[in-house]
Amino acid sequence: MLFEAYLIPDLVLSHFYHLTPEYMQKLEKKYIISDIDNTLVTYDDPEPTPAVLTWLKDMENAGIRVAFLSNNKPPRIEKFNEKLGYVAYADAGKPGTEMLKKVLAELGADPSETVFLGDQLLTDAACGKRGGLYTVIVPPIKDRTDTFNRTKRLIEKPYMRKYKIREEKRGNTL
Ligand SMILES: [Mg+2]
Repeated sequence: MLFEAYLIPDLVLSHFYHLTPEYMQKLEKKYIISDIDNTLVTYDDPEPTPAVLTWLKDMENAGIRVAFLSNNKPPRIEKFNEKLGYVAYADAGKPGTEMLKKVLAELGADPSETVFLGDQLLTDAACGKRGGLYTVIVPPIKDRTDTFNRTKRLIEKPYMRKYKIREEKRGNTL
């Protein structure tokens, strides 16, 4: 099922910093297009945390370029990216891929050499997979517990289960 293929990530990691430069080299990828909210920082962090800065520095040192693609509003993204000056887009309209293509073009990156990183299946995984990127999902750093977000997690659940079954079949321990 095509729809399903877009919602099952290629890899689930427990935290963004487990996507290391070494792991990127193993995957033979040179670019990361990352979500911000709940993937790298919580909604309450206007700026990158020390953990994010260290991770970005490590990627930079390894020659890996990171860009941001967020569905959040421009002021949030501008503030977060202020000192970094990375390629960054707000109002990305994920799971739409229009802005993703724009980022790839600006980076000069091919989808085959790029990782998409996010915390949500319905927006991030769907966007990354539709764009033909290797898609890594991490659990939300601080999940909201309102009905809307609880519903989203409920929708995601069977796809996460399918991911686990697929990986077990491949002999990957999770
Ligand atoms: Mg997010």
